[in-house]
Amino acid sequence: GARVRFAPSPTGPLHLGGLRTALFNWLYARHTGGQFILRIEDTDQKRYDPQSLDELMDGLRWLGLDWDEGPDIGGPYGPYIQSQRREIYADYAQRLVESGHAYRCYATAEELEAMRAEQKARGLPQGYDRRYRYISDEERARLEAEGRPSVIRFAAPLEGKTVVHDLIRGDIEMDNSRINDPVLLKSDGMPTYHLAVVVDDHLMRITHVLRGEEWISSAPLHKLLYDAFGWEMPVLVHLPVILDPSGKGKMSKRKKVVGGKEYLALVREFREAGYLPEAMFNFLVNVGWNFDPEREIFTREEAIERFDLAQINPTAAALPYAKLEWLNGVYIREMDPAELQKRLAPFLAKQLGLDEETLRTSPRLAKLIPLIQVRIKLLSEAADIVDWAFKEASEITYPDPTLLIGKNMDTDQAVAALQRGLELLRSVEPFDAATLEAAFRAAAAEMNVKVGSFFAPFRVAITGKTVAPPLFESMEVLGREEVVRRVENALQ
Ligand code: GLU
Repeated sequence: GARVRFAPSPTGPLHLGGLRTALFNWLYARHTGGQFILRIEDTDQKRYDPQSLDELMDGLRWLGLDWDEGPDIGGPYGPYIQSQRREIYADYAQRLVESGHAYRCYATAEELEAMRAEQKARGLPQGYDRRYRYISDEERARLEAEGRPSVIRFAAPLEGKTVVHDLIRGDIEMDNSRINDPVLLKSDGMPTYHLAVVVDDHLMRITHVLRGEEWISSAPLHKLLYDAFGWEMPVLVHLPVILDPSGKGKMSKRKKVVGGKEYLALVREFREAGYLPEAMFNFLVNVGWNFDPEREIFTREEAIERFDLAQINPTAAALPYAKLEWLNGVYIREMDPAELQKRLAPFLAKQLGLDEETLRTSPRLAKLIPLIQVRIKLLSEAADIVDWAFKEASEITYPDPTLLIGKNMDTDQAVAALQRGLELLRSVEPFDAATLEAAFRAAAAEMNVKVGSFFAPFRVAITGKTVAPPLFESMEVLGREEVVRRVENALQ
C-alpha cells in the first residue's frame, strides 16, 4: 500500500483546495490499502494560528477523512508536528554540512539588506550571492569563535539543470543556477519548509506526494536534497489549483467577491451554509479527477475502488458551484427523514433560537420533514420555511393585514371566509390534511369563491406568510387547537 500524507501549515482556516488535496491523498491510501498520514507543518512560527489546527482536524473529520497516523493519535514515525522534530532537522542539516552539501552562512540581516540594495542599484539579479560558501576555514573558525549566529544553506550545484518527474505533468526542469543556496536551517534552529518536508517524507516512508500545484517550483530543489542525502524521492503528483468562479484568479481565502458576488471558499463557510459532507465528498472527487462522466452520484466505496492517480487532470478549473448546490439537494431528498431531522436540528436551533436537543426528537419537526425535504438545497434554508411552526400563536404577525384578503375578495368576504373556515376547523373530524382540504373546498364552492382566494387568508393567519408549505399539511402539523387559536387571532 501507498503511504501518503496531508501536510498543512496551521496558518489559517482550511479552504476547499486544502480539503481536496487531503481527499485525494486519502482516496489513494484507501485505494491501495496503504496509510494516510496527517503531518502538521508549523515551522513558520510567525504565521502560526493555534485555532487552525482544531479547525483543520474538524474539517477532515467532517468529510470522513480518517488518518492512520497523526498528531493526536501518534504512530510509528512520530512526532507528527514539525516543531517537535527540531533536533531531527538540525541533525540532518549538520550531516549535509559534513558531506559538503551545505554550509553555514553568517550574514546578518543588515548585510543581506545592503547586498540587495547593491544588486538593485547595479541592475543585478536579486538573490543570495553565496558569499559565505567560499570563505576560508580560518575565517569560518574566527566567525564561530566570535559566536556569530548562522543559518545553514544548501550548496546548490552551480551548473546544469535538475529534472523531476511528475506523474501527471511529465518532466519539470529547472536550471540549477536559479537555486540560490536556500536556507535549510534558520538561526533559531527551526528548519525551513524545504528541509523539513524532505526529511519528514523520507523518515515517514512517504511513497507518493500529492500536493498543490503551487509547490511545483520547489520540486527541483527537493530532488537535489534527496540526491544529497542519497535517498530516493517519492512519486510526485501536483494537483491542479482551484480557480475562483471567474476562472481567472486563484481561489482566495480572503478576497471572495467575483462579479460583485461573494463566493464561499472556506470549509467552515460551506458547513455553516448547510452543505452535507456526502454532497461535498461527491463534488470534490470530481474536482481534478472524474469518477464517471455519465454518473454524478456514487458511494465512497465506489470512489475508493476506481480512484486512479494517472487520470488526474492537471488543468486548473473553477469550481462548479451550481453543481454542488444541486448535489446537495439530491442528497437531502434521498436522505432518511429521521437522519435529516438530526442534521437540521443544529441549524434550526441556531437560526430560530430553539433548543437543539429538543428539536432532534421533536414530533412536530418530524412531521414537517417531508415538507422541508422537497423544498431545500441547503440545510440553512429550512428555518425560513418552517419558522411559523415553532412560534406561539401570539408571535404570528404579518406586516400588512390586507394580506389576509384573498385575490378578488373584499374585506367582508375575507372575514366571512375566515369565520366559515373557523367553524370547520373546530368541527372537522378527523383533523387531517385530506379531510380539511375536502371541507374547505366544499365551503369555497358554497360561498362561490375561488379556492385560491378562500385558502389565502388561512395561510397568512397560520404562518404569517403568503408563501408557505402546503396549507392543510401545515394545519395537520400544528393540530386543531393551535390552528383555531391562530385564526381567532387573525379575526380580531
Ligand atoms: N505545508 C505545505 C502546505 O501548507 C505542504 C506542502 C507539501 O505538501 O509539500 O501546503
